[in-house]
Amino acid sequence: MAEVLLEARDIVKHYPVTRGLLQRTVGWVRAVDGVSFTVEQGKTFSLVGESGAGKTTIAKAILLLERLTSGNILFEGKDVYKFSAAQLKTGYRPKVQSVQQNPWSSMNPRMRVRDIVGEPLFVNTKQPKKEVYDNVSKLLDQVGIGAEGMTRYPHEFSGGQRQRIAVARALALHPNLLVLDEPVSALDVSIRAQIMNLLKDLQTQFNLSYIVIAHNLATVRYMSHGVAIMYLGQLVEYGDTEELFKNPLHPYTRALISASQLTLPEDAKDGAKQIILTGEMPSPLNPPPGCRFHTRCAEAGELCSKEIPDMRQVGKNYVKCHHYK
Ligand code: SF4
Repeated sequence: MAEVLLEARDIVKHYPVTRGLLQRTVGWVRAVDGVSFTVEQGKTFSLVGESGAGKTTIAKAILLLERLTSGNILFEGKDVYKFSAAQLKTGYRPKVQSVQQNPWSSMNPRMRVRDIVGEPLFVNTKQPKKEVYDNVSKLLDQVGIGAEGMTRYPHEFSGGQRQRIAVARALALHPNLLVLDEPVSALDVSIRAQIMNLLKDLQTQFNLSYIVIAHNLATVRYMSHGVAIMYLGQLVEYGDTEELFKNPLHPYTRALISASQLTLPEDAKDGAKQIILTGEMPSPLNPPPGCRFHTRCAEAGELCSKEIPDMRQVGKNYVKCHHYK
């Protein structure tokens, strides 16, 4: 088994809802509510769910753009929140980089590519300009842009090429972990496979770990070794990716797979071929009692609205549903 690089331990993020002149707290949005998972060195772990499930909040917490309400994030076995400012500067931030969904909005259109990709090196190292540009040239080669792109501007590239440039910039400081927030969803379908293959090649070459935030299950299945399904701030199922797609356990996972038109599992024969997910996800301000999915679950029983199911191991994977008592 690969070594664990990052561990999220029972992480919680609640946002206060305030009202009135005095900004009195009248409630809490439970964006993330007790989530745990591990990311192994050299592997891809994906977080999947509808918008509002809490995936982006988790990504922001890992990138230290959000402070958690409670819980811990451990990197190489050490609690990130106990790092000093100097430790964060050298031992965490450079090692954990991100690639955003839209490469266009994450680049300054007035900067040349050599300065966009070189920016992390200018800011974080004392390398002279020539050395930075030499490194940028190598990075651009690695992502298939080539050194001839150095002096060009972002608008001179296609969406797929801009995403390659964004990946080059994320690699500049030799990170161990990339947080990829919907890395291909803004791209043409024809380009997506190229970027996913590039990311897979770079993973093998540099033993990189990825956290992929996505709602597209085809992307997740192609990219990930491990996957977690999120619903309303909590994990409902997680484990090995292939196992999860072949044998989805949670009714929500089955509905997502059904809606994505990926092949349904063999065991969905008896009339359960198409599972329609109805209704909206309830507000995280006031999540339903018991199983949070019970308001939309076609398989809900009496217990479901009363009792919170435990997370249980079933076969290789883990599921939070009363059906598996
Ligand atoms: Fe559906 Fe009940 Fe399972 Fe929740 S616990 S997913 S409501 S069957």
